[in-house]
Amino acid sequence: MLRNNIPRSPTAVQLKTILNFVEPYKSFVYKKVRWADPEAKTEIEVLIEPRANGGAICSGCKRRAPGYDRLAERRFEFVPLWQIAVYFVYAMRRVDCPRCGVKVEQVPWCDGKNQLTTTYRWFLAGWAKRLSWKGVADVFDTPWQNVFRSVKHVVSWGLAHRNLEGIEAIGVDEVQWQKGHKYLTLVYQIDGGSKRLLWIGKDRTTKTFLRFFRWLGKERASRLKFVCSDMWKPYLKVIAKKASQAIHVLDRFHIMQKMNKAIDEVRAGEARQMKEDGYEQVLKHSRWCLLKRPENMTEKQTVKLAELLKYNLRSVRAYLLKEDFQRFWEYVSPGWAAKFLDQWCTRTMRSQVEPMKDIARSLRGHRELILNWFRAKGTMSSGIVEGLNNKVKLTTRKSYGFRTYEAIETSLYHNLGALPEPEFTHRFW
Ligand SMILES: [Zn+2]
Repeated sequence: MLRNNIPRSPTAVQLKTILNFVEPYKSFVYKKVRWADPEAKTEIEVLIEPRANGGAICSGCKRRAPGYDRLAERRFEFVPLWQIAVYFVYAMRRVDCPRCGVKVEQVPWCDGKNQLTTTYRWFLAGWAKRLSWKGVADVFDTPWQNVFRSVKHVVSWGLAHRNLEGIEAIGVDEVQWQKGHKYLTLVYQIDGGSKRLLWIGKDRTTKTFLRFFRWLGKERASRLKFVCSDMWKPYLKVIAKKASQAIHVLDRFHIMQKMNKAIDEVRAGEARQMKEDGYEQVLKHSRWCLLKRPENMTEKQTVKLAELLKYNLRSVRAYLLKEDFQRFWEYVSPGWAAKFLDQWCTRTMRSQVEPMKDIARSLRGHRELILNWFRAKGTMSSGIVEGLNNKVKLTTRKSYGFRTYEAIETSLYHNLGALPEPEFTHRFW
């Protein structure tokens, strides 16, 4: 076997040299590198000692303190090397701190009672951005919990160190998670400064969104210039109350999403009706050609659409209204856009397609907020909420076994929060 070719003492000096290169410590030295079990050769142990002149630091107050005693040796897992587990081995000192009493010392590779070194946790979390948590656990042969806790660690570090200055535009979005009607409220920063997930809250109630503003603080809320949302009433209410100086925009993505939902409803209802009447073939496989933009259709869908257009179906009328509405977004002046909007609503109200009429009613009811979209054009990247929304769906979909709110929250911040990271001498991931 290959394993037998590995020398008994694996080039001890060189491994120490590498460690001093990738992870140097001012007050500690890598004393010796050895196999944990010379027979099994599955784990490498790196013995660490304090430097001769290195006094201990109190973990309570982070200041130097006189020594008290020394605890038994402990192992801290480090980044594995060539599929071999690596452990730091060190006997922690305790200090007799004049401020905190008897305390364990603080060491630079680990905090608290953690069994994983800080570097290893950042390493696992770094991979957890590319793979699922389970994938990371499998590849590095570590319990899923270790991956979860590592991600939690880097997320809380990132949240504590992120810069919240200069937020000018935010977008609020709701996503469904888990089956049934469980929602999350997500707030994104969507201005030129940064595009990232700012905040997550359970549910999509007035209370939820009020919590966001409490977190943001009056000062920062008063500096918001644009707030982007869908037509969900609780959000509208809270925005009017808490960011009244900002231009409130109903954004394109959410409006078109609503229209697609209406079309879906019309089509489903009509398909049911036609089946009863014995015409079921007509609307078969029509769903995507009614929802997609023509330029995104496959050839088959284009043919299907051409066929559908021959019938005077409610689905088709709804589709044509939606397609026509796309022109709305091309306007530059809010005045002309308003004119178009009014005409479109009038036409739709006469269409006799009930779900589309609902849309027209709701657009009329929110006319000013929709026209704000043109006033905000250029300041806010319009596709950004949609992009972030897609990324959220991807994250929730790939994260199998995210039963708990804590896990989904952690994962979303990790993937979409654009969180900062500390400076490392060497990046392991
Ligand atoms: Zn202290």
